[in-house]
Amino acid sequence: MSDCLFCKMVTGEIKADVVYENDNVLAFRDINPQAPVHVLIVPKKHIRTINDLQETDASLVGEMYLAAKEIASQSEISEQGYRAVMNCNAGAGQTVFHIHMHLLGGRAMLWPPG
Ligand code: 5GP
Ligand code: ZN
Repeated sequence: MSDCLFCKMVTGEIKADVVYENDNVLAFRDINPQAPVHVLIVPKKHIRTINDLQETDASLVGEMYLAAKEIASQSEISEQGYRAVMNCNAGAGQTVFHIHMHLLGGRAMLWPPG
């Protein structure tokens, strides 16, 4: 998608503070962090929202969680705890329409979220 911010991060057209990468997933620090650790984990494939996921994307979503586990370990927040969350559509706070998992940690998390 030529006009997608996160696709531009994937191609390198826009610089990202990358913390993890494999063939299918890129992870970089959020520009406006909401916790001491705030990383966005994105599939390299453009998928607009969770609603647009296909059966064939199942392993890709699994890879996003495995990346979260790895980054949490690197960031030394595995034991303390962290949140791995995706917002779907504007009502849930999605502002960038290329799916991404927020990995948040390094502070106590409240529940329910706002
Ligand atoms: P959403 O609100 O869609 O769930 O999350 C989008 C996230 O992308 C927000 O947390 C926002 O701070 C982050 N973001 C927006 N623009 C940029 C950017 O240019 N670079 C980075 N690294 N993060 C961004
Ligand atoms: Zn995209």
